[in-house]
Amino acid sequence: MTVRIEAKRLIPGSGDVIENGVVVLDQGEITYAGAANGAPDPGDAEVVKTETVMPGMWECHGHFFGIYTANIDEAHLSRPQLLSMRVTSDARVALDAGFTSVREMGGLGVFLGRAVEEGVVVGPNVYGAGGTLSMTAGHADTHSVDLDMARALHVRFGGEDNIVDGPDQCRAGVRRMLRLGAKVIKIHASGGVMSELDDPHLPQFSNEELNAIVDEANRMERLVGAHCHGKRGIMSALEAGVKTIEHGTFLDDEAAEAMVEAEAILVPTRFIVDLLIREGEQRGMPEYAKKKIRMTAEAHSDAISLAIEKGVKIAMGTDIWATGVWGRNGEELDLMVECGMTPMQAIEAATANGPATLGPQAPKSGRLEEGLDADVICVSGDPTGDVSILADPDNITHVFKGGVRYKG
Ligand SMILES: [Zn+2]
Repeated sequence: MTVRIEAKRLIPGSGDVIENGVVVLDQGEITYAGAANGAPDPGDAEVVKTETVMPGMWECHGHFFGIYTANIDEAHLSRPQLLSMRVTSDARVALDAGFTSVREMGGLGVFLGRAVEEGVVVGPNVYGAGGTLSMTAGHADTHSVDLDMARALHVRFGGEDNIVDGPDQCRAGVRRMLRLGAKVIKIHASGGVMSELDDPHLPQFSNEELNAIVDEANRMERLVGAHCHGKRGIMSALEAGVKTIEHGTFLDDEAAEAMVEAEAILVPTRFIVDLLIREGEQRGMPEYAKKKIRMTAEAHSDAISLAIEKGVKIAMGTDIWATGVWGRNGEELDLMVECGMTPMQAIEAATANGPATLGPQAPKSGRLEEGLDADVICVSGDPTGDVSILADPDNITHVFKGGVRYKG
């Protein structure tokens, strides 16, 4: 079935808005996207009329954990079978909110993505990392138990051991993620907030370890994305060839310039910082994390503003991990506007800039352009004037993924 979407405004993802636009979807592909007066004859196409048509959005940093709270340890105190059931609902909710692609930076996404691809679960295309590679005592180690237990808990939840030390283990760790079906390799290059004993300012992994991870990942045509708060972690990661910096809390002038130089992408995840500051208490955030979120929150918004000002390429990510919070992904756009983006820049971060976070594994999507995947949404209202429209799933009237209609 051919679908012809006639819109008051067409937002291509990158480039200027087209007034009175038409998008034609056929066999899973976009066969036309442009001005109505140049569009092909409608023929027997089904016509959808809408205010705004734009590419399906990209969540470039989420986690399918299937837990309800702001305490990551809940994943280790729950049965993986139950967590797996819950994430199928997260997937449906994300698609309903207009997100047709999710880059899942550690969790059950590698499995969920395969079930979506098989057609048995309704959800976005999910590009998972598998587990997140961490050094011993690093951000994805579980500091409250002995190391053997920590390893066992991670294998039980994510399918493979993720704690690696020394270049050889780092290489082997990348290979273990590949055997889970990882499309991107996620590492921790600094301490974090949601872990007990490590310091967000301090770098994690030696340069030799980072080099081994990036070399192995790149050889297998995967990009490496690094969780980094502190500046030294950011600089070492860039030096090793990491292409996406997640969070980037203590980014300064020099680090921003290094990102531009390296053509690296920042995925700021302002949503989670904002959520934990406002709702962390009632969501069961552990005491250690409360201290660390207060230590990082202000620097984080300054860093995003600086990155925007310096012209660092930014892709939208929220770091949402909890069932019940999935679906609020679109709130990130407004937060990026608060940090200094124009609405059109925020939309570009949530659409056209998404695929680049996967490098060689990127699908052909994120823009409305002939020959690209038919991942398209219709929106009531004008998000170029008020981007917060995209935060409310009720405003997303139609969702097409691969040309198949899931909403509307
Ligand atoms: Zn994360």
